[in-house]
Amino acid sequence: MLSFQPTPPLDTVPAPPLHFADRTHQMVPSETRALFSMAAREDVVSLAGGMPSPEALPAQALREVLQEVFEAEGASALQYGSAQGDPVLREQICQVMAAEGIGATPDEVLVTVGSQQALDLVTRVFVNPGDTVVTEGPTYVTALSTFAAHQARVVEVAMDRDGVVPQALADTFALLAAEGRPATFFYTVPTFHNPTGRVLGADRRAEVLEICRRAGVLLVEDNPYGLLHFGERPHRALCADAPDGVVYLGSFSKTLAPGLRVGWVRAPRAVTAKLVLAAESAMLSHSKLAQRAVSRFLDTRSWQGHLDVARSLYRGRRDAMLEELAATMPDGVSWTVPAGGFFVWLTLPAGLDARAMMPRAVDGGVAYVPGTGFHTRGGGRNVRLSYSYPTAGQVREGVRRLSDVIRDEAAGGRTSRLREAVAR
Ligand code: PMP
Repeated sequence: MLSFQPTPPLDTVPAPPLHFADRTHQMVPSETRALFSMAAREDVVSLAGGMPSPEALPAQALREVLQEVFEAEGASALQYGSAQGDPVLREQICQVMAAEGIGATPDEVLVTVGSQQALDLVTRVFVNPGDTVVTEGPTYVTALSTFAAHQARVVEVAMDRDGVVPQALADTFALLAAEGRPATFFYTVPTFHNPTGRVLGADRRAEVLEICRRAGVLLVEDNPYGLLHFGERPHRALCADAPDGVVYLGSFSKTLAPGLRVGWVRAPRAVTAKLVLAAESAMLSHSKLAQRAVSRFLDTRSWQGHLDVARSLYRGRRDAMLEELAATMPDGVSWTVPAGGFFVWLTLPAGLDARAMMPRAVDGGVAYVPGTGFHTRGGGRNVRLSYSYPTAGQVREGVRRLSDVIRDEAAGGRTSRLREAVAR
């Protein structure tokens, strides 16, 4: 005789267990993101986030540009686009790169969702789990997250005031090759580096390219800040002198608006072909509307004029930060002097720990990013300060507050305890 088991009601069946893939185990919230809630308090001056200034975002012009895109292109602006990106925009991106000496063609370019996605796709097409990626130490925090998400091993190379130290890079490549785990690529932010603000010296550029070429290591050049220079001319990109050995990442996030999420990667054709396939599986195609808006902005508005305004705004804030640092910081504190971009990298006196100091800094009304977030290990005495978002007045106030906190810490917290006692 057949017997039927009664089917239990669906709401009593437990949800499926969540067996996350191995790669998720290395995905951890970035140090910067964890700090945003602290830094968002109204009484806190945030020198933490590296966001563009609201005054440098051309909201009115983009509103008009979007309207014009709809008038000129109608519903086609709302269609799917090609996986490689809008052909007209790719032409324009080649002109943008020409300012830094790169002679690229549109078929070498893939438009991406910010340069962050470009970095993810590059890592996806080159890195197997366990492969080694070499970076500057310190390096861009979310690049570390990307490499972790792809289960890469990250090896850092020391920097000095002129960027990555060539001999240290060559030694690292040699050591990795001898270990039988050669570097898959060298990831570098050579111009207005995040987090240090440094620039790879002109004479070092050829040396770094030669070291990579001799070691057979691809170079990934991430350059979102290059056009935000405070001097006369932009630096010549590494990619300009070795296009067949360099994958170049660019972005309109800092030079136009991050909310558009338009960046790109330029690579040798064989690499671009793979990246296009990876992009297709990741997103089908980039937002056509966003691409058409950027393209029309570049075509019909003065982007150069906009860049000049942004440069002078950031330069003023950088000056405010440097002047206030010089006026208020106690002995034993040192910092970098950026010639462009968004960041100053501060080193605390021996014995102080930037991460441990953070809650006291927030109590003192200032937020920053502790250096540890930018390293696989180390960086405890470092602080990343950004002058891009707060006004010059806020920058000065933030630095004054920070110097009070550092003085206090260096004195073993005595000053603030004394103040508290007096206030009681
Ligand atoms: N690279 C570096 C060095 C950055 O600082 C940033 C943004 N903070 C990015 C890449 C990503 O920028 P986006 O995706 O907005 O282009």
